[in-house]
Amino acid sequence: MAREELDPFKISQTQLDAAADLMSLDKQAHALLREPKQTVVANIPVKMRDGTTKVFTGFRVLYNDARGPGKGGIRFHPQENLDTVKALSAWMTWKCSLADIPLGGAKGGVICDTKSMNLQELENLSRGYMRAFSRFVGPDRDVPAPDVYTTPQIMAWMLDEYEKLEGHHAPAMITGKPVELSGSEGRYDSTAMGGMYVLRETAKMAKMDLARSKIAIQGFGNAGKFAFEIATKLAKAKVVAITDSAGGIYDPKGLDYEKLSRVKEETGSVDNYKGGSKISNEELFTLDVDVLIPAAIENQITKHNADKINASVVLELANGPVTPEADKILFERGIIDMPDFLVNSGGVIVSYFEWVQNRDGYYWTEDDVYKKLDAIVTRSFGSVVKTQKEYKAKGKKITPREAAYIIAVDRVAKAMKARGWY
Ligand code: GLU
Repeated sequence: MAREELDPFKISQTQLDAAADLMSLDKQAHALLREPKQTVVANIPVKMRDGTTKVFTGFRVLYNDARGPGKGGIRFHPQENLDTVKALSAWMTWKCSLADIPLGGAKGGVICDTKSMNLQELENLSRGYMRAFSRFVGPDRDVPAPDVYTTPQIMAWMLDEYEKLEGHHAPAMITGKPVELSGSEGRYDSTAMGGMYVLRETAKMAKMDLARSKIAIQGFGNAGKFAFEIATKLAKAKVVAITDSAGGIYDPKGLDYEKLSRVKEETGSVDNYKGGSKISNEELFTLDVDVLIPAAIENQITKHNADKINASVVLELANGPVTPEADKILFERGIIDMPDFLVNSGGVIVSYFEWVQNRDGYYWTEDDVYKKLDAIVTRSFGSVVKTQKEYKAKGKKITPREAAYIIAVDRVAKAMKARGWY
């Protein structure tokens, strides 16, 4: 079997190329959109608890800012690398464009293992990151946010460092901040909430009764945990399986959210949940469920397991969980695969609301935030389905991901054209 391409940046380019072909994208626009506009790498000295200084490598990539300032999270991950950050910054560009919010795409990352660091070291690293990248970010330049293993507290330290350097308040330079430090209501679970709006619309389209459905989730971080809570409490669905990086658990009768959260908090892994049976990540993907939610990291559904998936719907809450080869297999098998930059757009949409509120100095209620989020996500979903139908009428069956790409790329290309970039 030929080796499957797993480099996230190459994957993002392959996805773009497919869309460019379908929509007959102008060649110059295509070339501009295949590479990031700006890539910055910095080596960051950090004082550790034993008095030594350790050097961490950090990245910030501005992929495209034709539609507005760059926007995207910062990941702290031991396997972080430039190609992953580049891919994630491209996906942020498509995410903001599909949502039709006036922001471009960017992403940051640091190679580090947060689990082996104490709070002081994390603070030193966060402040060090901001000292290294302060000239490249800002409310009208590029606006960071949380991502894998970064938190509202980390955003607060970064804001504080930036404001010290600039000598004035600038809350709109970073989002995902704690509510008590000009964060937005509803931001903490907005990624999952947006995903649940997409699931609601998908279920309507597929005539699936969510209240009778069974769900399996990979990941119990910010996205997976709240997806579990919202799916069980609001949609009344049954979550029967969950895994995290240490292990997993399966109970066809349904897992208890409160019990699971407690176990995760006290022991560090969902694996220690009492009840049900233990399962591996691989097994989770093969379960006979209605909805499978990858909510961890990229490259989880590949050509090696795509043919073993038994779910009717795959809801990509993580960034980049499905490879292009797996994409094809799922499509041929009639499995509805809802793409990451639609499903997980709730996070950046509420980040956009946070940025707007910071600039206005006027804050909204949680109810307001959810209502506005629902309107945007439902509109994006509708535009994806409409584009699929338009292509079908022309004799081309395209995936939801291809449709989403066509919409997003077209908007960015038009903005670049209007600016005279090509
Ligand atoms: N890190 C999140 C994402 O991948 C949120 C980004 C943001 O809020 O800017 O969409």
